[in-house]
This record gives sequence, C-alpha cells and structure tokens, in this order.
Amino acid sequence: MPHNLVNSQPRRLGRLGSSVGPFSLGLWRMVESQVADPRTLLEAALGCGMNLVDIADVYGLDWGGHAFGEVEAHLGSALKAAPRLRDQMVLATKGGIRPGVPYDSSRAYLIAACEASLKRLQTGHIDLYFIHRPDPFTPAGEVAQTLATLVQSGKVREVGVSNHTPAQVAALQDHLPFPLASVQPQFSAHHLAPLWDGTLDQCAQMNLLPMAWSPLAGGGLATGAEAVPGGPRAELLAVLDELALREGVTRSAVALAFVLCHPSAPVAIVGSTKPERLKEAQAALKVRLDRTDVYRIIQAGMGAELP
Ligand code: NAP
Repeated sequence: MPHNLVNSQPRRLGRLGSSVGPFSLGLWRMVESQVADPRTLLEAALGCGMNLVDIADVYGLDWGGHAFGEVEAHLGSALKAAPRLRDQMVLATKGGIRPGVPYDSSRAYLIAACEASLKRLQTGHIDLYFIHRPDPFTPAGEVAQTLATLVQSGKVREVGVSNHTPAQVAALQDHLPFPLASVQPQFSAHHLAPLWDGTLDQCAQMNLLPMAWSPLAGGGLATGAEAVPGGPRAELLAVLDELALREGVTRSAVALAFVLCHPSAPVAIVGSTKPERLKEAQAALKVRLDRTDVYRIIQAGMGAELP
C-alpha cells in the first residue's frame, strides 16, 4: 500500500514540549457581531483536540469588527466566565502590528503590546507569543532582548515569529538565549511558497512548529471561489474534488490533510467561526495522501508541471 504522508499525530511545541493537536483554532474572524458566544466555538475546538488557540492583538479591525483588541477582549470575557477553558488551551497571541505605522517591534512598543494583550485576555501568561510581522527597522538583537525579558518575567512561555523570511528567523535566533518555538507562515494547497523558500526546511532543521495560516486559502478552497481574482485555480479544485470523492470526504478535508503532509509536521490553523465546521474538519485526519497525490495537488496549485 502506498505510504500515507498525512501526519495526524499531536505535535510538541517548543522547549516546554506542550502537546498540541494537528489543527489549531484561529480566531481572526471571531468578532462579536459574528460570534456572540465564543464559548460554544472554544468547547467544540477543545472537544476535537484543537487545543492550540491562535489570536492576535490586531484582530477586530476587519470581518465586521470595530477595534484593535476586540477579538482578544471577546476571548478574555469568555475565559473569565469559564476559566477551565483557559487551563485546557495553549494560548498563542501576536503583537507588533501597529495600525497607521504599520509594524513596530521596538522594545517599548512590544512590552506595552504584550501587557495590553494579557489584560484583554484576562490571563496571567501567554503560552506562545508571536511577532506578527517583521519590522526590519528594529535590530534583531533588540527584538531578542525584548522577547527574553517577556519570558524571564513569566508573561510569556514560548516565542515565535510570523511572516518572517528564514534569514530573519536565523538572525533573531542568533541573539536569543533560548530556541524559538514556532513560525507562522501562510501555507495551503493554494499558497505553496513555504515548500520552496526554505521556511519548512528551516522548521525541520531548528525544530520549529510551523503553524500554517489560511489553510483553506481563507475559504476559497472550500467554496471554490475560482472566479475571485487570486483565488484557487479551477484545476486545483478539480484535483481536490477527485481525491475527496476517492476518500469519501469534502474538498476542504483533502485541502486540510495536504497541509499536514510535510515532514516538518505543520499544524493547520483552521479559521472557521462555526462549531460544526470544526467537527467536520476532523475528517481530514482520516484522509490518506501518498506522494503522487501530494505532487498532483502541488502541480495543480502551481498551474505548472514540475520538471
Ligand atoms: P481558513 O480556514 O483558510 O479560512 C476560514 C474561512 O473559510 C472562514 O471565513 C470560513 O467561514 C470559511 N470556510 C471554512 N470552511 C468552509 C466551508 N466548508 N464552506 C464555506 N466556507 C468555509 O483560515 P483563515 O481564517 O483565513 O485563517 C486561519 C487563522 O490563521 C486565523 O484565524 C488566524 O488565527 C491565522 N492567521 C494568521 C495570519 C498571520 O499573519 N499570522 C494571517 C491570517 C490568518 P465560516 O466561519 O463561515 O466557517
């Protein structure tokens, strides 16, 4: 039987080795107008083993939200009302996007941003703190010192970076007194750059947990919005549909399973606001994809044959 590349096992995060499920819950879209009661969504996620919860201070400025910090505050209220949920999750948040600037990783800004996140989230510590976007105008040494201060103070347990190039990751790591735990790139059957630009290779090399954002290309791989400029190619959707038929699952399940195939063991950050969709996503863990299937998806996603 061909070798199945889909890795459905839990992953280990960072120095502390927290066990996290292969799917994370992403809360970018969890604004109050869309999700009145986060508790149902959180309980559904935790019930499915999606214990790594991803949020950011800037979430709330789009998807019908009104303000920077809105989604963190919404989650914080839910956690205050049900503290046992906080105990069950590995909570990741991000700072460093400063609307109007737009990026600021200076020491004063990041320390203040992290403290504001803690307050909104109504929690004593953040399990995994990300620099959301690189700020090339803050030296790597200053960012590293700031992150070390946050860890030493107990406000943050592990640190990671998002949307950084491998060279930016390496430069930061050179200055840090402990290993980075995670990186967060955009990665899906539609957005394949991390396969080729060194991002996932570096994860394997440095034991970083890759957290793939927009694993369904923001929903385009589910809805088949091929008419949308920049959306998934029709030929990619056709290959995913064919594999979905073979595996007896939805196209989304195949697309999510694809993200779990790389040997660096990525986690897919699922961004649905619907508890039933989180449950449906678990079907991806039963999908079997071999090397031929994976390369069919890649070539259809690229719209080109590999040499
Ligand atoms: P995604 O899972 O690719 O897309 C989620 C969207 O797809 C939701 O709008 C969802 O709608 C829709 N969807 C899912 N299944 C569907 C289906 N079967 N039919 C129709 N629509 C479907 O992920 P994402 O929300 O773009 O991103 C996931 C997470 O990644 C975010 O929450 C955030 O935590 C993180 N992220 C990080 C960065 C970064 O810079 N680090 C950037 C973007 C995102 P419903 O809600 O209606 O299900």
